[in-house]
Amino acid sequence: MSPPAGSAAAIPAVALRGVRATYVERGLRVDALHDVNLTVARSEFVSVIGPSGCGKSTMLNLVAGIDRPSAGEIAVDGRSAIGRTGLVAHMPQRDLLLPWRTTLQNAVLGPELRGETDREARALAQLDRFGLEGFADAYPHMLSGGMRQRAAILRTILLDRDTLLLDEPFGALDALTRGEMQEWLLSIWTELAKTVLFVTHDIEEAIFLSDRVYVMTRRPGTMKLELRIDLPRPREREMTTAPPFVEAKRTLLRSLLAETQR
Ligand code: ADP
Ligand code: MG
Repeated sequence: MSPPAGSAAAIPAVALRGVRATYVERGLRVDALHDVNLTVARSEFVSVIGPSGCGKSTMLNLVAGIDRPSAGEIAVDGRSAIGRTGLVAHMPQRDLLLPWRTTLQNAVLGPELRGETDREARALAQLDRFGLEGFADAYPHMLSGGMRQRAAILRTILLDRDTLLLDEPFGALDALTRGEMQEWLLSIWTELAKTVLFVTHDIEEAIFLSDRVYVMTRRPGTMKLELRIDLPRPREREMTTAPPFVEAKRTLLRSLLAETQR
């Protein structure tokens, strides 16, 4: 069902227009992003794939308001998000749990840093859904890799924003755990009706999770391809061997290989 034109629902959750990012490093100008255009509709799951160093994390940092673009517009829910933190919930690429804090203390860290107190009860109520029941008082070294990532995602969810930016959250996990985490993330996404902008370098992960996938060029990164994934939901692992999935994989792989071999 498409929203009526002009309604609030028609405003994208995230929109980038002509975004450029330039760093100056030891006197040298480094162009990280060039003319980036991207939209994410409300409740949509959109992934971005691209070669290492093409500017994916930089792009999420811009949307999160941590960095400012050197040109272009960035909007969250139709309002400028440039230099504004707190509009979205951002899980950085290496969102590590603090080793001296328990699972629960780590989960409430984000809200706590924002001066939002009284989140422990809410976090406790969610541990079960995050597969962390019984581990509230455990320290990170006692958790599996998958559990640590779920705790970090819980921390992001507890920021209570409609839009989540997830930067390669499953990058360090083994293939089996990774598959389980993908299915789990989709169930959370469906249940909580969040908007997700997801960064990965894994083509299959992007297809399995997403409504749409963007491919970026090498640095300075820009969008070179946008692909709608026409697979029904709920997504099931068996779909990964069906023709539409394989076709999407071929298209994305070609596009990505052209960048890494250039
Ligand atoms: P990706 O996430 O796609 O691997 P990044 O966004 O991390 O890529 O980095 C893109 C480019 O920008 C890289 O060349 C990186 O060295 C550079 N870069 C990223 N952040 C900074 C920064 N804070 N200062 C200087 N250069 C940076
Ligand atoms: Mg990155």
